[in-house]
This record gives sequence, C-alpha cells and structure tokens, in this order.
Amino acid sequence: MLGFSQTREWVYPQSITGRFTTIRRWTFLALHLLLLITPWIVINGHPALRVDLPARRVFLFGTIFTASDTIFLLLVLWFLAFSLFFFTAVFGRIWCGYACPQTVFLESWIRPIELWIEGDRLTRRRRDAQGWTLDRAWRKAAKWSVFLAVSVFLAMAGMSIFAGARELWTGRAGPVEYSLTAIFTFFWFWDFTWFREQFCSYVCPYARFQSALADDESLTVTYITERGEPREAGRQAALDGRCIDCNKCVAVCPQGIDIRDGFQLECIQCARCIDACVSVMDKLGHPTLVAYGSIAESEGRKVRRWRPRTLVYGTILLAIVATGGTLLARRVPFEATVNRAPGSLYTVDADGSTRNTFLLQITNNDPGERPVRYEIEVSGLGSAQVLTEPLELASMESRTVPLIVRVPASSDLGRTTPFEVSVTGGDGEIVLHPTFKTGAEIGETGP
Ligand code: SF4
Ligand code: SF4
Repeated sequence: MLGFSQTREWVYPQSITGRFTTIRRWTFLALHLLLLITPWIVINGHPALRVDLPARRVFLFGTIFTASDTIFLLLVLWFLAFSLFFFTAVFGRIWCGYACPQTVFLESWIRPIELWIEGDRLTRRRRDAQGWTLDRAWRKAAKWSVFLAVSVFLAMAGMSIFAGARELWTGRAGPVEYSLTAIFTFFWFWDFTWFREQFCSYVCPYARFQSALADDESLTVTYITERGEPREAGRQAALDGRCIDCNKCVAVCPQGIDIRDGFQLECIQCARCIDACVSVMDKLGHPTLVAYGSIAESEGRKVRRWRPRTLVYGTILLAIVATGGTLLARRVPFEATVNRAPGSLYTVDADGSTRNTFLLQITNNDPGERPVRYEIEVSGLGSAQVLTEPLELASMESRTVPLIVRVPASSDLGRTTPFEVSVTGGDGEIVLHPTFKTGAEIGETGP
C-alpha cells in the first residue's frame, strides 16, 4: 500500500523465469526495436515510420500514403479489427500477455527497476507494511524518479512516430507535440506508480468484449483440475502429482488472481503462472498443473482450431490482405486533379478556334530523391492542341499549372464534350475526365 487508496490491495508479483517468460522477453525486445528504431531509420530521405497527422501523410518503409489513399487506412483498420477477432478466437488474450504496451512496458522496465531498487516480492511487502521509514522513503523516491525518466523516454518514443524522431529529440517539434508528450508522460507515470493491473481489470475495453470474441475452444491459461485436485500441502500430494498448494502460481501473478479459481476476466494470459507451476512440478517429477488449454479440452471435448467462427474471420482477413496487396501493386505514386479555371468557361480566338483553360494539380508522392517528370496528353477531342509543358516535381512537391486545350474552328464539337487528360510520370498513369465547352452551349461566340 502506498497510501493512495484505502481499499487497494497492492500486488507484489514475484520474479519468475521459464519458457514462456523467455518467449515474452524476446517478443518485448522485438516490439521495443520496432518502437525505438523505426522512426529514426531514413529511407529515401523520409522516416521509415511516421504518421504526420497535420499534413495527412503516413510514411511507411519507403512508401508515402496521403489523404487520397484513405482506402488503405480503411483496409488497415479492418485488418486490425479482424486480426483481433481471429487471434482472440484462436489464441485468446494473446495480445494482452505478449504485445499490449501496458504489459510490455511494465514487464520490460518497471518490474526490473522495482526489483533493482526495492528488492523482490517479500522484501517489498515487508517494507511497505512497516510504514514510512527513511529506508523506504529514499527507495520510493529513487524508484519514482527512475519511473519518471522511463515515462518521459517512452512518451518521447511514442510521439516520435507522430512528430518525427529528429524534430522531437532535438527540440525542433512544436508546442502541441511537446504538450502531448507531457500528457503521455503523465499517463505512463501514473500507470507505472499506481494504476497498473487496475487498467486491465477496470478500464481496458478489450477485456470486456473478449468474451464475445473468444469461445470455449479458444486457447487460454488453465488449471488442470482433474490432476490438481484435491490440493493438499503434503507429501502425498507431491507423490501423486496433485497441487501442493505452494501458492507460487498466485505469487507470480501480476493481476493478483489465483488461476486455480477458473477463468477470470482479470487474467491477461501472461503465462507466468505456467512457468511457476512448471518450476515446482518439475522438481517433483510431474507435469505442470497450469498450462495453455481450453475450456473444451478441460471438459474432455475435442478442440477445433478451424471452426465456423475462425473460418469466417480467417477468410475475411485473407480477403482484406488480398485486396490491399492488389491495390498496393496498382497504386500510382502521385496525385493529379483537374478543375476548370475560375471565371473561364471558354474563349474563342481570332482564328475561330475555341480554348478551355483548366487548373491541373499534380503532387509527387514518390519518396525517391530524384525529381519525377510528368507528361500531359489529351485525347478524345480530335486534333486538339495542349498548351502545357511537362513538369518536374521533387518528392512531396505539389504544383498547380494552367492546362490550356485549344480546338480548331473546323472541329465539330457539341456544347459539352467529355475528353481525357492523361498524366504519366514514373511508372504510373492517371487518367482524368473533364469536359470541353464550346459556344454552341449558350449560342454565343464567347463568354
Ligand atoms: S492467472 Fe496466470 S496467466 Fe493469468 S494473469 Fe495471472 S499469471 Fe498471468
Ligand atoms: S504452482 Fe502448481 S502446485 Fe503450486 S499452487 Fe500453483 S498449481 Fe499448485
């Protein structure tokens, strides 16, 4: 108890090693590398990962997505949603135990720091029970100071994705970015020092709706009641391979629950209790009593990994991936729009030819360092003349140029004639469909 709450039962999880702890450590390391390094990697002059919200641009491993790529944003959101449905149906709350930032940061930073400054479970509990002493006070102050430094570091790392790592870490980002960093710092510090497992139990929406996503055939951490019960703290239970009630699976649990009580909403499936029971039962020469399994298995039923729910989610996921892949392969790395120039419907020249003036805007989204040359051609208007020069644009450059289309007097065009403007650049082409106006539309020779 730190004195913040009179009802809070503080959890002191014991340190543990084992197979699943090792797997989780490697997973955490990979996720940290993704978070800490990708915003710093530069590909073709742009960050490997950056979400530039004010400019509505996303830089992703050498590709620049803009507002005109909203379909990809939708596909990514659908992909994330159906991944969650699919992986929860198959593997239960694997996200919570292996990839949720709350778990990753608590396990990678906070628990090792706590162990280093305050000692293991029993020492921490004993000190906290003694009330405020000088020894306890300096350790708390030291621990919270390090937690604050970690909170700042992690908030900066997270904001680097949005504000740009170089800008943020060298003081060149704006006040909004630093204000948001301060808010995230405050959140992490509050979470690390006090809120912790309560977030999973009381706030996280995923914990609430996972029961709708998982079923009794989903993978979950379970206590094998048939082998474990009746539990007994005695020699006979140890010889039989039953639960010896050593409480180690409870001591290591970061959520403060007892897996032997059955499925609980608070369980984040971190598998620490499996490693704990393996370490106990190995010494007794028996298999673990806590393992990955399912409710169906524990009831003696067969588990189908592929069942209607997982088949539907899996098929939708595959369809999303296939659609995204196809669209990505056909994606053109520039944008082009054409609009009629304001106040100019058409103009009739002295030789009787008709001119329409448009504004053509081209934006180069190619991340390459060399400028891209764009050619403009018009078709569908017979012998029309296009009075626009090809233009060259650097990466991220956008320019609006007049596009003048001139049709000779001999052309027999109606009042409104659709035609095509083709813009080619790099390996792509965009075809636009404006209309050409002539005097026949309003029965005059000019506007
Ligand atoms: S019961 Fe086991 S799997 Fe669930 S949170 Fe506790 S230690 Fe992790
Ligand atoms: S660690 Fe295993 S033996 Fe010990 S209390 Fe938990 S289930 Fe029983």
